[in-house]
Amino acid sequence: MTPATQAAHYTDLVSMARKSWTLGSIAALVSWDQETYMPEGGAAARAEQSSLIARLAHEEHTHDRRGELIAECEGDAELMQDGTETAACVREMRRDYDLATKLPSDLVAALAKAQSETQEIWKHAREKDDFKSFAPALENVLSLTREKAQCYGVPAGGELYDALLNEYEPGATAKEIEAVFTPLGERLSALIADITANGTPPAIDFLYRSIPTEKQHAFGRTVTAAFGFDYNKGRLDTTTHPFCSGFGAGDTRMTTRYSETNFPDAIGSTMHECGHGLYEQGLPKEGEHCGTPLAEAVSLGIHESQSRMWENMVGRSRAFWSWALPEAKKTFGTVIDDVDLDMMVKGMNTCTPSFIRVESDEPTYNLHVMLRFGIERALMSGDLSVNDLPDAWNARFKELLGLDVPNDAQGCMQDVHWSFGLVGYFPTYTLGNLYAAQFWETINEQIPDLDEQIARGDFASLLAWCRTNIHQHGRRYSASELCMRATGKELSADPLLRHLESRVKPAYGM
Ligand code: ZN
Repeated sequence: MTPATQAAHYTDLVSMARKSWTLGSIAALVSWDQETYMPEGGAAARAEQSSLIARLAHEEHTHDRRGELIAECEGDAELMQDGTETAACVREMRRDYDLATKLPSDLVAALAKAQSETQEIWKHAREKDDFKSFAPALENVLSLTREKAQCYGVPAGGELYDALLNEYEPGATAKEIEAVFTPLGERLSALIADITANGTPPAIDFLYRSIPTEKQHAFGRTVTAAFGFDYNKGRLDTTTHPFCSGFGAGDTRMTTRYSETNFPDAIGSTMHECGHGLYEQGLPKEGEHCGTPLAEAVSLGIHESQSRMWENMVGRSRAFWSWALPEAKKTFGTVIDDVDLDMMVKGMNTCTPSFIRVESDEPTYNLHVMLRFGIERALMSGDLSVNDLPDAWNARFKELLGLDVPNDAQGCMQDVHWSFGLVGYFPTYTLGNLYAAQFWETINEQIPDLDEQIARGDFASLLAWCRTNIHQHGRRYSASELCMRATGKELSADPLLRHLESRVKPAYGM
């Protein structure tokens, strides 16, 4: 498709999209700086800068002219021919425009106010373990969130929750997610019970030896450069809450965190963000697709599949540590000299039920997510009231993870998400794990000597597979279409279960 042959309404629409994309990337850059290098004194000016950019971006996103151009493109049969890039681009621009314009400004303002108030109340309530003082604010934010879902509209045959889910995982429905989560939850709970009863926990104390953060940073650089992250077009910096932002074709920034006495946490989060970074670097941001949905990530679940694959499928494997352990020893010095490959792999694949999601291991993490999915869905449908939330949480926690929750601070008040009205977001974490495992099985079928390659520190064909099957498509296909095209199958719980069993059982001598 060359610009000369394209209708003016399409090229105009793309120019508008590029302008709002540029504003969005400025906003992301300003926010990256705030999280990394901005001195504390910059906060007031930064708030002004961020809010101006956000307002300009919103004006661009919701401009009437954009709506008119989208409608003109939709009426252009040539542009909208099935399977073309232009049709995919217009379809996704329609989606973005509708999401940006369907909410009345009163509701947007009320939500913003409720979010910032509820977040403050949550902080204090969690400190004091006082759910009662949090409940009314949560009730308010959830009722506004319900209103938001109604404005988006319930998809045919679906439920209110789907309208919220659609913001993060386009086209996914609660019913489909439930169909995958239910067998996963049951079989994971059984696996954990089996390990707890019959397994021998591996030694993990060596994972907490003191290693200077500069050495951990150097090791993270070595690993991510080997994965294929292009440091001529990216950076790795330090922050409290790691994230990754892609500002454009030549500029992808990852951040990570370091603790002197927990190097697996740092390398895990570095590999995780690198997975996001490799996706951002692989999106077709150069040239004609720049600023259009074809150069953007398809969904949070697929983005997360990329981070989880490098963090877990690669980063906890025997093949990876065959190469990485000698590298780590070179960088860290004598401190882990006595650690052998077996110890390392077992230590990286532990499974111990605990109360806090963000501190949980690879298998149990999914149970934490499932718990939240069931609860927020019931809160939206009205089957569960806010006052009954702690009891429902604790009962379900016992069923899934086998533990008695000691208090609400370590229970239903541990996450900030619901204070923000972020409902429908949690499932994308486990969707990421599910997609990652399903891709991983296909990758290993298609690259039979992948383990040997990884054990040599060669990740090129793995990255090439991701580029070809995932990255280059941007939002051309939906997440489920992408999964079908890449793996030939619909998303299922089986690959993730097989993956977790194959890693955890050997770590426990089973
Ligand atoms: Zn992530």
